[in-house]
Amino acid sequence: MAGFFKNLFNKITNRAEIDWDDLEADLISSDLGIKLTTSIIDELRDLGREISGNDVVDVTRRQLAKRLPDNFLPPTPRADGKPFVILVVGVNGTGKTTSSAKLGLWLKKRNRTVIMAAADTFRAAAVEQLKRWGERLSIPVITGNTNADPSSVCFHAHQKAIAEKTQFLICDTAGRIHTRHNLMEELGKIRRTIAKQDETAPHLTLLVVDATTGANAMQQAKEFHKASPLDGLIVTKLDGSGKGGIAVTIHDTLGIPPRFLGTGEEPEEFSIFEKENFVAEIL
Ligand code: GDP
Repeated sequence: MAGFFKNLFNKITNRAEIDWDDLEADLISSDLGIKLTTSIIDELRDLGREISGNDVVDVTRRQLAKRLPDNFLPPTPRADGKPFVILVVGVNGTGKTTSSAKLGLWLKKRNRTVIMAAADTFRAAAVEQLKRWGERLSIPVITGNTNADPSSVCFHAHQKAIAEKTQFLICDTAGRIHTRHNLMEELGKIRRTIAKQDETAPHLTLLVVDATTGANAMQQAKEFHKASPLDGLIVTKLDGSGKGGIAVTIHDTLGIPPRFLGTGEEPEEFSIFEKENFVAEIL
């Protein structure tokens, strides 16, 4: 993304006259979405003078700052001593299991006690993967048998977390894209099951979206949001060709804010959303 704006900057700076259609196409292709692109173009036109690469960057920075949410305040342990339950949802391949583990480590580093539930029981590999992460990061992982009911895995993990007064429970849920209807029903069931032991839970539902998939990520956000109210996004793969613009567009369109960011395959390559850094990163 940073490279993208640099190229755009050079293109505009080296040109005698601005080609508005070209600029619009460029901004849309950076995943900033039509709404934001239109606002940027309108503000630039309103300047009423020849525009430079600097103008584009300045106006984009202002528009991004206006449209992105404030910094995300990290979740804190509950006062009643019951676990703070986080559901991590999303389609396969977005980085859901990796992000669940990264989030576990992120909390652990802040001296929180964490337990994880491997509720993606339809994929033995996903359960194994979370178990390996748990061993590597020293975070307990609750698993069920292959094809066990995902909600029962979450229920048992929740029960254990309550009994042991663990502060955070992270549930890595299933993401089979070919049976979307079932997937959404299953998420509903997980929510209801978790609420049986604590009617205030789950406390945070995060959708994992792969920043390299652009419009697909938007579609996923729409569908998941219909089925299970989302509190925020974990935007992954912002290293490489990941375009942070999609997070802006999803927030703009659906009001779902970015909460955490994944910037690599390693567990430490993960951060909480901070507006200023994020804008700087995009530009
Ligand atoms: P899941 O199917 O959604 O649970 O996805 P996984 O957690 O198995 O991740 C899929 C692939 O994406 C794995 O190879 C991860 O290492 C990789 N991955 C996850 N997050 C990131 C990220 O932020 N950056 C990069 N480069 N790769 C990531």
